[in-house]
Amino acid sequence: MRKKTIEDLHVHGKKVLVRVDFNVPIKDGSITDDNRIVQALPTIQYLLDEEAKIILFSHLGRVKTEEDKASNSLRVVADRLQELLARPVTFIPQTRGAILENAINSMNVGDIIMVENTRFEDLNGNKESKNDPELGAYWAGLGDLFVNDAFGTAHRAHASNVGIASLKEAAAGFLMEKELHYIGETVENPERPFVAILGGAKVSDKIGVIDNLLKKADKVLIGGGMAYTFMKALGYNIGTSIVENDKLELAKSLLEKAGGKLILPVDLVVSKEFKPDAAHRVTTYEKIQDDEMGLDIGPKTIKLFKKELKNAKTVVWNGPLGVFEFEAFAKGTRAICEILAGLKNAKTIIGGGDSAAAAIQMGFQDDFTHISTGGGASLEFLEGKELPGVTSLDDAVECDCGEDCGCH
Ligand code: AMP
Repeated sequence: MRKKTIEDLHVHGKKVLVRVDFNVPIKDGSITDDNRIVQALPTIQYLLDEEAKIILFSHLGRVKTEEDKASNSLRVVADRLQELLARPVTFIPQTRGAILENAINSMNVGDIIMVENTRFEDLNGNKESKNDPELGAYWAGLGDLFVNDAFGTAHRAHASNVGIASLKEAAAGFLMEKELHYIGETVENPERPFVAILGGAKVSDKIGVIDNLLKKADKVLIGGGMAYTFMKALGYNIGTSIVENDKLELAKSLLEKAGGKLILPVDLVVSKEFKPDAAHRVTTYEKIQDDEMGLDIGPKTIKLFKKELKNAKTVVWNGPLGVFEFEAFAKGTRAICEILAGLKNAKTIIGGGDSAAAAIQMGFQDDFTHISTGGGASLEFLEGKELPGVTSLDDAVECDCGEDCGCH
């Protein structure tokens, strides 16, 4: 069932509560990557154009103690948003109370308020993170309508998403809609061939994703640390490579179930040490020494993956192919970025997390059809799970004319 989107709401003159994901990285008090703020701008701009009153909610980092508050205040985010929009954003350094209520009550259309970090409420009995009904009702009572644009937290049922959504007319913002389209619908009904690429540190983090994508994709290419559990399951000596010995049986059963769909690396880059400038060499799985660990896929694997991807019409990628944080072991991940950037007739989707960070860091942010803003959320979505932040939104009302014409 299609969910209501922001364009289904009558927002003119209304107080619109908007859950955004402004959980941006901050170092020494400065934002180091404002992508999440930038990605929410279309929704905010639409509400400005439609003359709504905008009240923004977000979490930032983890707030476990009073001391965590200073480094996790959203003030710096409100300042950045103000710069990006070139218009005032009123920051309210509270999550509840008279100052917030008075500020909202005296808003004019086109005004923007940013409420303090929703997780400050976690100091008070984890009210935000446990979706406390009183807190959800309080926040819902501050406005007329709810828009959820925070895909990154959609896999969690918190007061600021599910709590508010269950009490208000609730719709997806443009970013949420885009994420649901690419990570949801595209994976459900892919144009084929559909190739998935999975990497990252552990098999255990991605069992559900491998399982689901084996059902949906035509091929699943495996790289990164998780490949070594598969290789050990096949009987290879993997030296000191990262491995999950308790997942060997699982790896075996996935290989059997895959029936040739699962493609493993054929060569690798090994080193005796886990450090940026470690000496390294390319080898095959038959020739790994006892004191060597695999830290990247090798050139033959890159060639093999390129061949598998050549005619793909849909590609979903989650997890780096090697320890991309060290330049010497970033070649596999960079090669995948280059190959995908060259697939002009394919939908190329990065499912968030470290692979998104790697692609952006390597300068490929404009070369994919979609780079998800959600790490855990996109993983759970790729597993085929329902996301509470999405389920709690209103279903769209399809019109009688049988078309998606917006006549309601
Ligand atoms: P994940 O969050 O599961 O996507 O894992 C990302 C992490 O996996 C990154 O920090 C990579 O450095 C790490 N990784 C990728 N390949 C390897 C490998 N061969 N050995 C150890 N860690 C790896």
